[in-house]
Amino acid sequence: MVDFYPTSHKLDPNILNKELYNTTDLELQYYQIRLQWPWRKGDVHAWGWVLFIMGFMIIYGLLNWHDIRLDRRRLEVAIHNRRNKSGKRMKMPERSLYDRISTHARSFAYHRWDWMASISIGMSTLIIAGFAYPMLYVFTQRPYYARDPTLGPPPLAGRAGMIAVAMIPFIVALGMKVNLVSLVTGVGHEKLNVLHRWLALLMFILTIVHAVPFLVEPVVNDGWPALKAKFASNIVYWNGVAAFCCLFWLCIASLKPIRRLCYEFFVHIHILCGVGFVAMMFWHCNNMLTSWHYLFATFAIWIGCLLYRLFFRTNFLRAFHGEQVYFTALSNEGVKLTIPTTLRWKAGQHVFIRIPGISLFDNHPFTVASAAEKPEGEINDLVLVFKPQKGFTKRVHTISRKDPDASYRAYLDGPYGGLSRKLESFETVLLIAGGSGITPIIGHLHELATKIRAKEAVTRDVRIIWTVKHFEAFEWFKDEISRIARTMPRNSLLVQYFVTQESPVPLPAFPVSATRSWPQTPHTPQTPMTPMFVKAEPLHVVREIPDEHQYEMNVIAMGKQLGHERVYVDQWGNPCQQPDSNASSPIESPTMMDMSKLPPLGDEVLLEFGRPPLRHALRDWSDGFGKRTCVYVCGPPSMKVDVANAVAEMQSDIWISDEREEIYLHTESFGW
Ligand SMILES: Cc1cc2nc3c(=O)[nH]c(=O)nc-3n(C[C@H](O)[C@H](O)[C@H](O)COP(=O)(O)OP(=O)(O)OC[C@H]3O[C@@H](n4cnc5c(N)ncnc54)[C@H](O)[C@@H]3O)c2cc1C
Repeated sequence: MVDFYPTSHKLDPNILNKELYNTTDLELQYYQIRLQWPWRKGDVHAWGWVLFIMGFMIIYGLLNWHDIRLDRRRLEVAIHNRRNKSGKRMKMPERSLYDRISTHARSFAYHRWDWMASISIGMSTLIIAGFAYPMLYVFTQRPYYARDPTLGPPPLAGRAGMIAVAMIPFIVALGMKVNLVSLVTGVGHEKLNVLHRWLALLMFILTIVHAVPFLVEPVVNDGWPALKAKFASNIVYWNGVAAFCCLFWLCIASLKPIRRLCYEFFVHIHILCGVGFVAMMFWHCNNMLTSWHYLFATFAIWIGCLLYRLFFRTNFLRAFHGEQVYFTALSNEGVKLTIPTTLRWKAGQHVFIRIPGISLFDNHPFTVASAAEKPEGEINDLVLVFKPQKGFTKRVHTISRKDPDASYRAYLDGPYGGLSRKLESFETVLLIAGGSGITPIIGHLHELATKIRAKEAVTRDVRIIWTVKHFEAFEWFKDEISRIARTMPRNSLLVQYFVTQESPVPLPAFPVSATRSWPQTPHTPQTPMTPMFVKAEPLHVVREIPDEHQYEMNVIAMGKQLGHERVYVDQWGNPCQQPDSNASSPIESPTMMDMSKLPPLGDEVLLEFGRPPLRHALRDWSDGFGKRTCVYVCGPPSMKVDVANAVAEMQSDIWISDEREEIYLHTESFGW
């Protein structure tokens, strides 16, 4: 016989619920004889879960640490070798076994299904594992019921209950904006929120598994009156029901369709219900076994994160009166908020903004679309750009149109999120945006350009693919991109704009502003949506156009759409002085033609119509990728699915080629 517990050991009466169970050694003898786990040792179930989840965190943490260390090392070597051209050169870290293994893992984990675009297969696997472990643990062990009801809870209920309690601190941590999991794994809170919800659902299922035996057992043994008697004599039944109701609401209201109905209402009720749930759990658990350890841990995590945010991440205390926000109406229904602030942030991070003058309770996240370039303590312009939805953003949109001089007090909370990897440590950086998904990319472009200029980057090749529905949307950032591009070395940036819902104006099928071609693929659409600017050639090709007047018409048609200022270019497409008025017409002198209202010049810009064929074409375009490439995507779900699947398939290029070491994917989300 296995001696689970020495019978000589005296039970600690405080850890048993005297109201419900026998507290003598009888229990131990009972279980010992039956080779069963004594309920008093039930804390082991919770421990199993803690070790399981901590194991995942440690593995993710180590992988993240390895990547960060490698990025740093690569940068260090590149900068050293650049600065000491004649001195001793340092060796770049070789492709390691880890690189090889990780490509296999990524080729699987990056994939996404069309019908569940918000999570990758890697994340789904994690969720399935998270479900499988407790379910197998709870249901594969026996017995479920068989024991004397006075000797502890039904074993099935005990196992499920303890694991459910042990999940609470993790669920709360995963839902907080600053948390240890993010710190260790480098995964932003907006992505962890998915796990917060799935884990809560799992806990909900486990609480049902915990509750059902308590209801079934008395009915099966002694009929309905016995159950009634239990409710009449034990408050534990009632506070259990109260905790369950709170949890039910927390899970049901978090479902996307319900959450979307009124997000702010959902958030505030969610917090209230969360507090109610933890309070009820304190009462319900009554310090049985180690339950209160987990509830105290939950409390500590919650309060700790809130205090950290209050003191270090919001400007409520730092500048009690908040900061001034200025509104600018942008084309294509866009709104720009500019907040001069001493707050520091990194590229790709987001802040929450509360404008009490518009709505006291609304607190909305937006990604910063500017760089904190000035030294610590000085004021930078924090820029947020968004397209209005139905709530708060709609109100700001209306004000920005009605009163262009409007300015309000704003309270910032953040910055949060961002990228744990260093973009400047990748040779090739491919930034893909859909609509307002361009905002984090602008921040990254700023930071990358600064690093490239300072020769602190390995990056040689930056490509932006920005897809919008209407031309006017380019107005949001085209000048900004143009300005940054001009500070970068020639040929280091290629910008490719796609317009998806504008009927393509008849443009000349020859280059106008591109100075470098984007590789064409068999998948590039060959319909009327064919890309207009496809080939990098000097502009003297214009001479070959048969119908010169048609050309001029086309340029004007295009110019109307883009609304650019008048720009003159030389024969290589570079901006130049305006020709004198006696100069021959653009058609006769193509080297001095009027390029008014074309995409920004001086950058390497391609303008195309239709949806970018990301799913199939990325792989072909990857011919020019460097050893390590970062693909960064922020856009609608279908775009994320296409890019993620393309990058997953590209991983096989690494297995067969010595030229490639890594193709890393980062997807940015504007929601949870
Ligand atoms: C990390 C992050 C960064 C973002 N960055 C940008 C950006 O740079 N530019 C941009 O245009 N949009 C961005 N968004 C989206 C933006 O926050 C929402 O569009 C905005 O909060 C909607 O507010 P509303 O009241 O007008 O929307 P509603 O019409 O009430 O709701 C529209 C959608 O927004 C969601 N939503 C509403 N309020 C919030 C909130 N407080 N937090 C999270 N989701 C909410 C709702 O669930 C719903 O799905 C970002 C979102 C996140 C999570």
